[in-house]
Amino acid sequence: MVKCTFCGEMIKEGTGKMFVQKDAKILYFCNGKCEKNMLKLKRKPYNVRWSGRYKKK
Ligand SMILES: [Zn+2]
Repeated sequence: MVKCTFCGEMIKEGTGKMFVQKDAKILYFCNGKCEKNMLKLKRKPYNVRWSGRYKKK
């Protein structure tokens, strides 16, 4: 089991997406929403309210 790189949710085997960056760092996403926010919108997980990694100030 791996955790979603963006929201921190556990990803069951056979679900979610794996993405390998140019620097060979592997990212895991539980769904397309997390993938889009991380890769396309370039949001930081701790700035996104619905993410499990969100940090309150
Ligand atoms: Zn996620």
